[in-house]
Amino acid sequence: MNNDQTSARKRGTWTRRGCLTLGAGLIGTAIRGRAADGQVAAPAGQPQQGTRTPPLPLIEFEPKSMLHVTETTVARARFPVIDFHTHVSRRRAQKPAVPPAEIVKTMDAVNLHTMVNLTGGSGEDLSGAIAAFDRAFPRRFVTMTEPAWTRAGETGYAAWQADEIAKAKAAGAVGVKVLKTLGLYLRDGGANGTLVKIDDARFDPMWDACGRLGMPVAIHVGDPEAFFLPIDRFNERYEELHAHPDWSFHGRDFPPFKEILAARDRVFARHPKTTFVALHVGHWAENLAAVGEMLDRFPNVHVETGARIGEIGRQPRTAARFFDRYQDRVLFGTDAIPLGTETPQQVFGEDLYRIYYRCLETEDEYFDYAPARLPPQGRWRIYGLGLSDRILRKVYNANAQRVLGMKLISG
Ligand SMILES: [Zn+2]
Repeated sequence: MNNDQTSARKRGTWTRRGCLTLGAGLIGTAIRGRAADGQVAAPAGQPQQGTRTPPLPLIEFEPKSMLHVTETTVARARFPVIDFHTHVSRRRAQKPAVPPAEIVKTMDAVNLHTMVNLTGGSGEDLSGAIAAFDRAFPRRFVTMTEPAWTRAGETGYAAWQADEIAKAKAAGAVGVKVLKTLGLYLRDGGANGTLVKIDDARFDPMWDACGRLGMPVAIHVGDPEAFFLPIDRFNERYEELHAHPDWSFHGRDFPPFKEILAARDRVFARHPKTTFVALHVGHWAENLAAVGEMLDRFPNVHVETGARIGEIGRQPRTAARFFDRYQDRVLFGTDAIPLGTETPQQVFGEDLYRIYYRCLETEDEYFDYAPARLPPQGRWRIYGLGLSDRILRKVYNANAQRVLGMKLISG
């Protein structure tokens, strides 16, 4: 067991509910043979010699790797880091979920200089988040605003929303975050209405305003490709979808995965003067060749690594080539959330950052991609990319500073 697992277990990041809801699959085969006559009974809990082991629920299968390979602890990132994808403020309470001073202590421990708080909301939520984080800890936190989707059906929305973005900038917001609400949840005419398309023309003034105001758009559309496929034994994210069936976008009236990406690409094409950061490795970390083609087509687009270290690290050679080729277009991000344990791959803490650093900086082999008892996104482990200092500097902070148009780190 490595340190990450040990400390995760101590903290109990895997919830009891998770354990109980996941126990669907069985591995192993039923006992067929019987112990030979005269054989001494095995101790309780262990199979008789020569018999098959009883079936084992998949959730209880925790194989310990027998590989004896290098384990590097990267306590601090080699260069100061900007995490471009975090959610530190809490909207309804209009106050931080975890005191910012506590968050800063963890940041200092792992050489995390700045957290970009994407979900600052708008209006009072936004000004509250900016006061509690950005103003209280200058250059350690910056906050983005979000469109008010609830008003998208109103007449005059387009111009109003563009105006709101300008006001948010005046209030201190550094960019605009677009959640997957657009394309998967937002409907015209209520809950049973039609899904609003990502490239719906009513948003054009908003995208243009972002370009005019120098506000980068952090956009998340779609979700992992497997979320658009049936939840069956062939689905590599079966356990995750089994635990969170509401994350499935298979069937019903959801557009196919590739249609979502195509609609997003039409937005990129129509607004070349707007800078977009396509979160979660351009929404297709499983297909870096396709992400590369997208980046080749749209020079106004960057990508970010949030919650996809498990995808990056399981294809280390392809990923290292991707980081090399697109070293000016990839931003470091984790999708960290300081509260909650439902998604261990996003739980803010030293363990989380050390996994990302280990993957990007070392050539370690076959380690966990999340601080959790079981791999939460799929049953695999990851490998280090061993990126060069030159690439690390860009990915850790230089690219983010350029995209934000801000000097956050001195020196
Ligand atoms: Zn996120």
